[in-house]
Amino acid sequence: MNLTVTGTVGIDTVVTPNGEHREGILGGSAVYFAAAAGKYTPVGLIAAVGEDFPAEFRKQIAGLAGVDATGLEVRPGSKTFRWGGKYLDDMDHRETLFTELNILIEAPPPVPGAYAACPVVFLANMHPGVQHGLAKQFSNKRLIVADTMDLWIGAARPELEVLLGDVDGLVLNFDEAEQFTGLRNTVAAGKRLLEFGPRFVVVKKGEHGAILVHRDGIAALPAFPAETVVDPTGAGDSFAGGMMGSIAAELARGGAAAKDPGGFQVVRRAMAHGTVVASFTIEQFSLGRLGPLTKAELDERYHQYMHMLRLE
Ligand code: AMP
Repeated sequence: MNLTVTGTVGIDTVVTPNGEHREGILGGSAVYFAAAAGKYTPVGLIAAVGEDFPAEFRKQIAGLAGVDATGLEVRPGSKTFRWGGKYLDDMDHRETLFTELNILIEAPPPVPGAYAACPVVFLANMHPGVQHGLAKQFSNKRLIVADTMDLWIGAARPELEVLLGDVDGLVLNFDEAEQFTGLRNTVAAGKRLLEFGPRFVVVKKGEHGAILVHRDGIAALPAFPAETVVDPTGAGDSFAGGMMGSIAAELARGGAAAKDPGGFQVVRRAMAHGTVVASFTIEQFSLGRLGPLTKAELDERYHQYMHMLRLE
């Protein structure tokens, strides 16, 4: 296994500005991440769900290309994590309608023995204390990157600060970087976050792209100009999946990432893959588009994106 993700597997409710309302759809930070990362490299998923988790969702996850779901625990007597979100008119901002933590306040799932030697680990959105506890169980890690979000910055800041001292990178939304640091300037907020320990911070800005604030430099990447935006849920997680998946694949091939998987140029290049895969996620609800996405479609859009970035 080249890459492992820990995070949530949940049941979502999503409301979009055109009045569309989807209840009980498959979601969760680890699901979107794994669906994206699996397009690049084999990825192991660690998460726990309750006995209410639909069998068809389990089948859907296990059937995702490149995804090993043996680390998905179904816990009898427990209830699955549930989240609801509503998008505002610009589709770039959302309100959380509800968060039912359920199984997330119980003991975390175990790290399967087959995953423990994995070199690249992504700690998708979860309680930072749990993220940290899971991270410590990987014996051979070369690159460890975490995500976080508003709920945890507000509710578990001390644990988040401790976690930041132990990861190579952090991925978060602009609003969250501002919430954490009190700074509205992306670079200033990124630099403040670096003071807590990580070597790099990726600040996601939705349709305005993403900024890399790295100890060795700063880079900016535009979003892929999307024509169809149905449901932005999971864009951030699948961005991280494409980014980390491409790094883990390059590391396994013995490319530049094998020397330094958290290096400035390696992360910068990987962000382009994250950008492209996330642009598919938002075209449908849940895994509607990302799930069946082929490598050929991904490659074609990647080349289109590279062409758009070229100035001469
Ligand atoms: P994104 O749109 O990339 O930020 O991710 C949205 C996904 O994250 C949804 O499918 C939710 O189930 C999941 N999610 C929402 N809130 C949380 C939370 N506090 N912790 C972990 N996962 C969450």
